[in-house]
Amino acid sequence: MSLRIVFEPTKCQGYANCLIEAPELWDFDEDDNKAVLRLANPDDTLRTRAEASARCCPAQAIRVEVEA
Ligand code: SF4
Repeated sequence: MSLRIVFEPTKCQGYANCLIEAPELWDFDEDDNKAVLRLANPDDTLRTRAEASARCCPAQAIRVEVEA
């Protein structure tokens, strides 16, 4: 299985919940006040964290796709 994280920066409002849930996957751009996706295709071991970051985003800027 492979993971694909789809991030829409235009929706991001800088809450930083994603970083708290999955610091391996996200950085934060202080100038833009937006999250920065570090890994668009993370290892499957990060699936739980990736899904948590999507679930916790109040702006619905993150989607996780799982491909068989
Ligand atoms: S949780 Fe959502 S709105 Fe907040 S920084 Fe992350 S992507 Fe942006």
